[in-house]
Parts: sequence; C-alpha cells; structure tokens
Amino acid sequence: MMNRRGEDRENNQKTGEDRGKAFSESLLSWYDAHRRILPWREDPSPYHVWLSEIMLQQTRVEAVKAYYARFLAQFPDIASLAGAAEDQYMKLWEGLGYYSRVRNLHRGAVMVMEQYGGKMPDSAAELKKIPGIGEYTAAAVASIAFGECVPAVDGNLLRIFARLTCCPQGINETAVKKAAQGFFHEKMVQDESVRPGDFNQALMDLGTAVCLPNAVPLCEVCPLRSFCEAFAAGNPRDYPVMPEKKARKVEQLTVFLIRDAERIALKKRPARGLLAGLYEYPHEPGHLDQKEALEAVRKMGFSPLRIHALPEAKHIFTHKEWHMTGYEILADELESFPGPDRPAGPGEIFLASIREIRDVYAVPTAFSAYTAALLTR
Ligand code: SF4
Repeated sequence: MMNRRGEDRENNQKTGEDRGKAFSESLLSWYDAHRRILPWREDPSPYHVWLSEIMLQQTRVEAVKAYYARFLAQFPDIASLAGAAEDQYMKLWEGLGYYSRVRNLHRGAVMVMEQYGGKMPDSAAELKKIPGIGEYTAAAVASIAFGECVPAVDGNLLRIFARLTCCPQGINETAVKKAAQGFFHEKMVQDESVRPGDFNQALMDLGTAVCLPNAVPLCEVCPLRSFCEAFAAGNPRDYPVMPEKKARKVEQLTVFLIRDAERIALKKRPARGLLAGLYEYPHEPGHLDQKEALEAVRKMGFSPLRIHALPEAKHIFTHKEWHMTGYEILADELESFPGPDRPAGPGEIFLASIREIRDVYAVPTAFSAYTAALLTR
C-alpha cells in the first residue's frame, strides 16, 4: 500500500484531466468516510435541500436542525408552505434572523405551485428565477437534488479555493468567485464518475472540519493537500486574503414593556427594511432617563402607574448595533388600544397576551433580553 508521501508525489506528477479526476476521487473518498450525518441529507428532495440551504445561510448547522424539523412538521411540502399565512411561517423562523429569507421562501413556494406545477425546476439556471434562490442555492439544489455539475461556491469553497491556488485577491471580489466556480467546475467535469452533489457537500464539510476558517487548517489530514499550493508553500494561514472590515453604526434605543396584569403593548414593524413585518415592543431612539421615558409613554397614549428599569442589552446586526436600555411600565386604561376584538392598523400599537407573544407573534431575537424579562415573570 502506498503511504501519504507516495500518494502526494504521484498526484503531483499527474497532469490535466488525470489530475482533475484524482482531485475529485480524493475528495469523494474522504467524504464517504467522513461525511456529516445531517437530517436534510437523509432525504435530499429538492424542497428539503432548498429549505435547509436557506436556513443555513448565516446560521450554524446545530442551530438549524431543530428549526428544520419544526418547519417540516408544519409545512411538509411546497404546497403546504405556499398556502401558509405570514404569521405562521414568521413564527417558525423566530430566532433564526434574516427574515427576508423565509418571506422569499414562501414567495418561491407560491411561484413553484403557480408556474412550475408544484415541482421545482431541475437546473440551476431555472432555479435562479425563483425568489430568494441566488447562484449558490441554485447550484446546491441543482447538484444535490438533480445531479447537475455545478459548483455551489459559498464561503467554505472560496476559502478552500484561495488556499489551493494561493489566490492573492480579496475573497469578496467577484473575479475570485468566478475563478473559484471555474476551478471547481473543471475538477467536476474531468471526472466522468463524479457525484456533483457529494462533490459540493464534501467541500462544505472539508471547510467546516479541516480547512478551517480563522484557525490553522488541519492540512495533515486533508485529502487535497497534494493539490494545495498554500500547503506546498507552507503558508495556508496567509489565505484567503480578507477585505478590511467597516465599523458598524451604533444606534441607542429605549425599549418599553408597557403592560397591565395580562397584556403587553406590541407593534408590527413596517413591511420593508430591517426586521420587516416582525413584532416589536414600542421603543424610542436614545437612552432615556425615567422622567423622559414616562413622558414618551404618555405621548403614545398610555397612563403610566409604575416604572422600573430593565437591564441594558445589545444586539449586533451585519451593519449596525443596537445598544438598548429598557423600562417595564405598569399602565392603566389600556382599553382604548386594539386587542383581540379590534385588529390594529399598520404601525399601530396593540395589546397581546403573554401566550400570544410566546406562540403567535414573531418578536425578533434583537429584543430577546426584554422578551425573556416578560416570559420569566
Ligand atoms: S491542504 Fe490545508 S490549506 Fe490546503 S486545502 Fe487542505 S486543509 Fe486547506
């Protein structure tokens, strides 16, 4: 049996198509031995792959598993999702963040029902016409569910590409993404027995377990090391070349939990922009002292009886940070506000019970410190 050094030497001596085939074979054998067992891999239907890939954008695998199971229990297929009400799918997404993903998923399900007879199209080019399906997701669905030879280039594949080729350009440059697509596509098509979905998933797993981000990659156990220029040069940590990070904008807010014994004041956010369509506690810009807070709440139409300060909290979005302080305010005469018997108009404050905040209205994680203060009472 040939040892690793011998395999490396042999791979280095191969050229062109042979080398592409050797690349794919090394990768796929490693995948067969080390692949992660994930719920959506057990039955990789187009809908399952689509749903999991949308959930996995910006969210860790471990966090997605429970959401994926809950979502499928309620919406087992594209038809049931297409027929769902906004509050239903938003509530199931609560805590995952980036809610435009689930809104697009729903719009996409409606489109699949109306324009594709309930069946997802089987090519990346056609999948990209569906709302919320970009180049990456289209490639993931097309390769995993339909076996199309198209690389799904995400951050993992970009990082691996940058190290394999000692790419000197910034990882966020469009030209680098195109080069990575071309590089992996060539490797795929040079192996006539390639499994395109597994090829992509192997690179995703390799990026998670071996060619690590923000850490020393585990080159000694990497199936691609004999193809890797950064390994040969001894400098994998120099890649990928990262763009400079811009400082996030900081916004200060004062959040109000305005309540009587049973109900809390809530408001729906606008249909567009940050956290669109979700529910929030009334709040004001700036960090208000108690006197200013009482004044602000009176202006909203409440008659405050008691006030007490809540802990400060912080939430970090991609481009901004909310630094929050809060007050719980016991108020009187809430009857004039909309409640279960009178629906609220857009942007109007209404009253919800604790049970409804838990089960019906999706309040984003940004307010989780204040929701927790409410639910633990
Ligand atoms: S050899 Fe090292 S740097 Fe190169 S792809 Fe493998 S883990 Fe990444």
